[in-house]
Amino acid sequence: QDDPIPSVKFPNGTEVPALGLGTWAMGEDAGHAKMEIESLMAGINLGMTLIDTAEMYGDGGAEEIVGQAIRGRRDEVFLVSKVYPWNASLKGTVEACEHSLERLGTDRIDLYLLHWRGNHPLAETVAAFEMLKASGKIGAWGVSNFDTDDMEELLRVPDGANVAANQVLYNLSRRGIEYDLLPWCQSRGIPIMAYSPIEQGHILHHPELIHIAKAYQATPAQLALAFLLERDGVIAIPKTSNAERVAENRDCVSLEITDEDWQALDAAFPPPAMKKSLEML
Ligand code: NDP
Repeated sequence: QDDPIPSVKFPNGTEVPALGLGTWAMGEDAGHAKMEIESLMAGINLGMTLIDTAEMYGDGGAEEIVGQAIRGRRDEVFLVSKVYPWNASLKGTVEACEHSLERLGTDRIDLYLLHWRGNHPLAETVAAFEMLKASGKIGAWGVSNFDTDDMEELLRVPDGANVAANQVLYNLSRRGIEYDLLPWCQSRGIPIMAYSPIEQGHILHHPELIHIAKAYQATPAQLALAFLLERDGVIAIPKTSNAERVAENRDCVSLEITDEDWQALDAAFPPPAMKKSLEML
């Protein structure tokens, strides 16, 4: 029996698994579609029922892949998608959302994010998000790639305090948010969605990560994900188009790391000692 995936609660009370599925680079090559759909279905079957996508990925192709993976089981999943900053005007946000809904083959996105900050005033984007929420097309809205000062600015905009999540780059090799953004969000009950949780595969060759993982008969990816799940209010969204790797990533929840080994990981991947601007990919 698989250990349960811990859950994270959004401000509106909705609970989601702290381990979800990313989709960047899906839907770019028709020859990979079957594998991508199968990997997402495998993840849903294993309880990784939060799926992160965006109108950007595969130019809409990733949303279509997600739509196929969730066909007939929409209510089992929590769908997250994102609007491009240049579409995030009052009218543009609503239109972009409607196009995403069509590609996803559903009438509701559970969490809709501004992908990163652009030129449209935050107040306008938030007003559009609130309209979408009122019409039931989205369940909640949030942001992505917002640093602490951006979050503070957002809270000063009408209805800005309704922000439900901030999706940012966060993994062992990118711990900057632990200095201020992570505690800022935690203290307000705003979940952080950790994107590129295994640094797109680049940290998996780190000798210390490999060494510590080995002691638990675990893989470096599992240890890197376990590190994120250890933190309150953090949702990790690893992407893989390989069903076996989905199962591998899922099993990170069974790891029980000793304090001594967490300290060894801190030595190999030091936490921030001062404020560093938010990095993004
Ligand atoms: P990840 O850190 O999730 O790494 C994905 C890469 O790692 C893929 O190449 C995948 O290859 C490989 N991989 C996955 N699992 C394993 C494993 N167990 N062992 C070895 N290799 C593995 O990077 P992403 O950048 O994709 O981030 C995750 C998700 O976050 C994205 O897919 C997207 O949904 C979101 N995101 C959001 C951003 C934003 O601005 N809001 C920016 C970047 C990402 P393979 O598929 O071949 O298995």
